[in-house]
Amino acid sequence: MSQPRPSLAELEAGVPFADRHIGPRPAELDRMLETIGLSSLEQLADRALPPSIRDSGTVTTSIPAAASETEMLAELRLLAARNTVTVPMIGLGYSGTVTPPVILRNVLENPAWYTAYTPYQPEISQGRLEALLAFQTTVADLTGLPVAGASLLDEATAAAEAMTMLRRAGKAKSPRFVVDADTLPQTIEVLRTRAEPLGIELVVTDLGAGLPVGEFFGLLLSYPGASGRIVDPSALIETAHERGALVAVAADLLGLTLLTPPGELGADAAVGTTQRFGVPLGFGGPHAGYLAVREEFSRQLPGRLVGVSRDADGNPALRLALQTREQHIRREKATSNICTAQVLLAVVAACYAIYHGPEGLTRIARRTHRMASVLAGGLRAGGVEIVHDAFFDTVVARVPDAGKVADAAHAAGIAVRRISATELGLACSELTTVAHLEALFAAFGVQADVAALDEATEDALPAGLVRTSEFLTHPTFHDHRSETSLMRWLRRLADADLALDRTMIPLGSCTMKLNAAAEMEPITWPEFADLHPFAPDRDTEGTREMIAQLERWLAELTGYAAVSVQPNAGSQGELAGLLAIEAYHRSRGDAQRDVCLIPSSAHGTNAASAVMAGMRVVVVATDAEGNVDLDDLRAKIAQHADSLAALMITYPSTHGVYETEVRAVCDAVHEAGGQVYVDGANLNALVGLARPGAFGGDVSHLNLHKTFCIPHGGGGPGVGPVAVAEHLAPFLPGRGVVGAVSAAPFGSPGVLPISWAYIRMMGVDGLRRATLTAVAAANYVAARLGEHYPVLYAGRDGAVAHECILDLRGITKESGVTVDDVAKRLADYGLHAPTMSFPVAGTLMVEPTESEDLAEIDRFVDAMIGIRAEIARVQAGEWPVEDNPLRGAPHTAASLVDKWDHPYSRDLAAYPTGSTPGVHDRKVWPPVRRIDQAHGDRNLVCSCPPIEAYSS
Ligand SMILES: *Cc1c(COP(=O)(O)O)cnc(C)c1O
Repeated sequence: MSQPRPSLAELEAGVPFADRHIGPRPAELDRMLETIGLSSLEQLADRALPPSIRDSGTVTTSIPAAASETEMLAELRLLAARNTVTVPMIGLGYSGTVTPPVILRNVLENPAWYTAYTPYQPEISQGRLEALLAFQTTVADLTGLPVAGASLLDEATAAAEAMTMLRRAGKAKSPRFVVDADTLPQTIEVLRTRAEPLGIELVVTDLGAGLPVGEFFGLLLSYPGASGRIVDPSALIETAHERGALVAVAADLLGLTLLTPPGELGADAAVGTTQRFGVPLGFGGPHAGYLAVREEFSRQLPGRLVGVSRDADGNPALRLALQTREQHIRREKATSNICTAQVLLAVVAACYAIYHGPEGLTRIARRTHRMASVLAGGLRAGGVEIVHDAFFDTVVARVPDAGKVADAAHAAGIAVRRISATELGLACSELTTVAHLEALFAAFGVQADVAALDEATEDALPAGLVRTSEFLTHPTFHDHRSETSLMRWLRRLADADLALDRTMIPLGSCTMKLNAAAEMEPITWPEFADLHPFAPDRDTEGTREMIAQLERWLAELTGYAAVSVQPNAGSQGELAGLLAIEAYHRSRGDAQRDVCLIPSSAHGTNAASAVMAGMRVVVVATDAEGNVDLDDLRAKIAQHADSLAALMITYPSTHGVYETEVRAVCDAVHEAGGQVYVDGANLNALVGLARPGAFGGDVSHLNLHKTFCIPHGGGGPGVGPVAVAEHLAPFLPGRGVVGAVSAAPFGSPGVLPISWAYIRMMGVDGLRRATLTAVAAANYVAARLGEHYPVLYAGRDGAVAHECILDLRGITKESGVTVDDVAKRLADYGLHAPTMSFPVAGTLMVEPTESEDLAEIDRFVDAMIGIRAEIARVQAGEWPVEDNPLRGAPHTAASLVDKWDHPYSRDLAAYPTGSTPGVHDRKVWPPVRRIDQAHGDRNLVCSCPPIEAYSS
């Protein structure tokens, strides 16, 4: 007898996406559950989660049943088809650009680049660190300022960071910050949001009339302005300096190939975006913002900075410089909450500079400028008034009926900026063609012969501001003009790094799960990638519908009433959430409520965000089990009853535990009139099981780059939506009361199709199964490793949530082997280290996620057990603390072929698991040995060093 035939419906349904996203096969999952003494995921849910927070089975949701990959893509295609892509000539800091296909395919669409984590383990991150160093060099050379960071979230937040940096760095006591009225409107809005809670008084003024009277600590100029106009900033800079203020200049990086750079004009800092260096518009982001400063401010620079140091063998090696200064580590002493950056997009921009080189960039700039000049010349000749004489790429034209001309241009497929009823902004870019100019002339009703105009029209750059200095002279920017060469350079760099395409990355609190190809594919569809953030609504219907659906789904999954996807990092979501709380209290006449309670175990961004929101941080203790200490909480609430604004609590806790008393904690805060902020970074342990909005939270941020599959990109992009209960909905960012926290209205919509696709393909059931599988995996790791390393905290019945902390402090004390040694030794095993020393110093926090299959989890567990055995040999005195395979890790191939005088063998150094089948063929050779952090910080080098530096 043959088997019963599967029905056509079953055959058509195929493999559910959840079975692709979730790693363990059913039999593997059974083995994992058996190891933790359970027989089903439901039993695990019953054991691990406190009943008081669990959803009943009756939660209603508009999230549709799971779609297959094919169905999801078809549905998304329909949404995409509702967008209209036009030639973007709106400008305002967002320009048309061509992503060279070699960069699109080998970086943006390549998991070796987009699945990497932040380069906190520099020995296995040399590739992206080298690309970021090229990014820093590009920005430093073009701005004429020697120190540039490894990217900020966008131009507007970079300007805000510059504002607060100038305040700290300068000597002026005044709280006033003067801003050129011709600054990008979205930059001014974010500056306002950020200035107010810090007591900074923003003075936005037309500098044509000179600087305002009275003292001010800083000045922001635009070069060119939002209108496209170029004014020589040097006189204003000089006067501001004479009056004791520092000056930042918002500058267009492409324009700086032709214009005298801000550094040569006396500026202290420069800010802007690198979007037009090959990064798709994406309806506003993600793009890499930049901030460059004079040498003397290098230690004040917010955000990440890549620096050159040397490794244990004295070879040059890269790593993040001055990490002790990293803002979020400083908690309430932080001056910024910047944590993540925009690494993937910064890498794209760096590659664009490398591929084109200085002469290629100059050619693109010249083309852009000539298009604008000829456009202005033709319109002028046709009797149209051109408002400014000096410009780089943007022309403002005055006409009787701007709407009519804009409509005619739109009908020809070109989107222009409607400044007013009588003014239009026309921004040229690398995409502008002669055909576009002709279409624009027609829209204006002007007759023009472009070739003749080209002959007759002069450039429109101010004569005194023509750039004479060289830039991008380093060989990196000259050696990769052929596609073959760039492709191989990118491959060499990717091979130096350990990303998710080669190994699990068990980073607690970071949720390094699968970023599925079907989720990634749509982000480079032109209908999503090529939308300008200020395109007319009729052109962006599909994307806005997709965002509205995603916001609704996220609200339902979290139990909140409303969501805004605007914040472009978790930290920005925190700030937005706290500003909402603050505005809510103010709206009720409770402006004195300014105390923010934060448990000592919280992520550093929590405290940093509270400070930025103008709140006072009061730390709440945690008890021996790692839970919020209820007695201390009650004492702190009593002490600050009248001024209590909020409590920030992470759930499950940063200790990886479902605290049973979370409802009591929330109730205590509410009774005292405070609001509860639930940090949702650990939502991967809750989705489908419990909702923060239902168990006491008033507001949360989520990390779409953790729980909802947006890749980490080597340290960005991120999306940190803020979700709020009904009473806080009017205070979401950019909805009237609270200002914008990001430059673009929807933050980084370019990557939102990823999370949309994930939810659409998983359905609520798939999401719930993912959550429980992630919890099962963490408990499996804890069960297997518990006898080798103490597991620090556990909740009900000894269960952990989706991550567990391995406590090495006792082991370190007895053996001298540190968490650092273990982390570096894991690289010899071809594995990425867990999170080091967060939230508890001297520990490792492991988060396997649901996406890893059992074989990979076991590979990690076995490596950790092998390492424990090596530690035992150090403990036993077999190897000295200073010379053993752990302290010597990681081992490069070169270090093995040199003379060998260590008490352990070369074999053991390179192949710690011996001849285990399948291990030799997965060997990863780190390109450098252990990196000397202190040396790099003492000798700060943060742009591409001359080649001679590499021949030690
Ligand atoms: C990651 C994380 C954050 C910050 O998110 P970013 O996107 O890195 O700014 C905040 N809180 C917790 C608990 C986190 O794990």
